[in-house]
Amino acid sequence: VWNNCLHSIKEGVGEQSFNTWFSPIEPVKLENNVLTIQVPSQFFYEWLEEHYVHILRKVIHQELGPEGRLEYSVIVDKGNDKYKPFTINLPNNNKSNKPKEQQREQPLNPFALNGVDLSQQNSQLNPNYTFDTFIEGDCNRLARSAGYAVAKKPGITSFNPLMIYGGVGLGKTHLVQAIGNEIKDTLNGKFVLYVSSEKFTNQFIDALRNNKIQDFSNYYLHIDALIIDDVQFLGGKERTQEIFFHIFNHLHQNGKQIIMTSDRPPRDLKGLEDRLLSRFKWGLTADLQQPDLETRIAIIQNKMESDGIHIPEDVIEYLAYSVDTNIRELEGVLISLIAHASLNRKEIDLELAKQTLKNIVHDIESEVGIDFIQKTIAEHFAVKIDDLKAKTRKKEIVIARQVSMYFCKEHTNHSLKSIGYHFGGRDHSTVIHAVQSVNDMMQVDKRFREEMEELKKRFKMKKV
Ligand code: ADP
Ligand code: MG
Repeated sequence: VWNNCLHSIKEGVGEQSFNTWFSPIEPVKLENNVLTIQVPSQFFYEWLEEHYVHILRKVIHQELGPEGRLEYSVIVDKGNDKYKPFTINLPNNNKSNKPKEQQREQPLNPFALNGVDLSQQNSQLNPNYTFDTFIEGDCNRLARSAGYAVAKKPGITSFNPLMIYGGVGLGKTHLVQAIGNEIKDTLNGKFVLYVSSEKFTNQFIDALRNNKIQDFSNYYLHIDALIIDDVQFLGGKERTQEIFFHIFNHLHQNGKQIIMTSDRPPRDLKGLEDRLLSRFKWGLTADLQQPDLETRIAIIQNKMESDGIHIPEDVIEYLAYSVDTNIRELEGVLISLIAHASLNRKEIDLELAKQTLKNIVHDIESEVGIDFIQKTIAEHFAVKIDDLKAKTRKKEIVIARQVSMYFCKEHTNHSLKSIGYHFGGRDHSTVIHAVQSVNDMMQVDKRFREEMEELKKRFKMKKV
């Protein structure tokens, strides 16, 4: 009977789906018009029910008449020894005397995926990304402490899933890897896996192509803590989301910890299914913000210390004020500063720091910098750049200074604090005041407004 069913199913679903989802099924018994089939896992059963219920119903009625029914027997039992489910495709002679049409030649290996043996040791974790090397600050405190709690009690806290989001270079990957490394200690010997969403997608596509969906899902269903990085990448990839949804449900139901990152808050994720998004909100969502000044200083000090390099206070201050966009950028500046110093056999001082920054800030920010704005505006108003930074309150200088600050605010990523620092160490409220004054003047003075529009073009053009 089952063979007849298979025959009809094969016609209905196509070769690839058939091999993936139907070949592994074993008929168990036929009693009172109820056909029992054995499926390899709960996940498998759910997938069949969700995607193939119509065709299954049809063929059962075809073969057994309107009274015919189908029952599943699922091999995976939550309480079972975890290794047991994965021997499912070994020939099972004493149970069924009819060999399957297609017997897999090799037993499934839960640690093997697409021919690559990802053994239990290989969590894809970078040992340098730990909590010790992750500097704590206001910008990351909640995310860090939630991460730490999860790492100490994976799957047990209500932070499941834990979703960390934040812009590029703010430490998402570092933090979740730190959590992963810590979980490995907590759950000694258990399987912790870090995977980027991109890699996950590619593995899934490969598995589809090679009829290895079952290996793929077994591999993921076997994980004790899953870290999946940059889930925004799953946007628009429906089939990948679908399998991720099932994996997510399975792991979550079994008390396994799930940790995710995204470059934006879940509500802004585009192209992700609602049912997936709603799952993301089950646990805790915490963000990483732009590093505040104290954190930047601490990161610089820490980095220099661990590299055994001494760097003067004023240089640390200068760097911390100047590079305030993200930590990756800050690290980039430090690395080139160290490189410059050692290449030219120079001490690291303020002069060298300024030079280094000049060379790279334009590249990495790909937009105008404070220096360029100050120079342009000083020329335009026929004042000296130094005057912009000085204490003088002469009217034309005050206006030039305020206009410069305004453009720094509008056209760079610098914070108010950082802008103030570059104007002779003024504080952020002075910058706010300047921006406000310029806005006011533009409202009331048409000629001034036009002048500003002209100036604006010069900064726009510099943008890449
Ligand atoms: P993201 O994944 O958010 O783009 P990363 O985790 O790759 O950012 O971080 C970028 C760089 O900044 C990495 O080298 C990382 O080690 C470093 N970094 C980020 N946050 C911190 C922090 N709080 N303390 C120390 N280094 C950090
Ligand atoms: Mg990252």
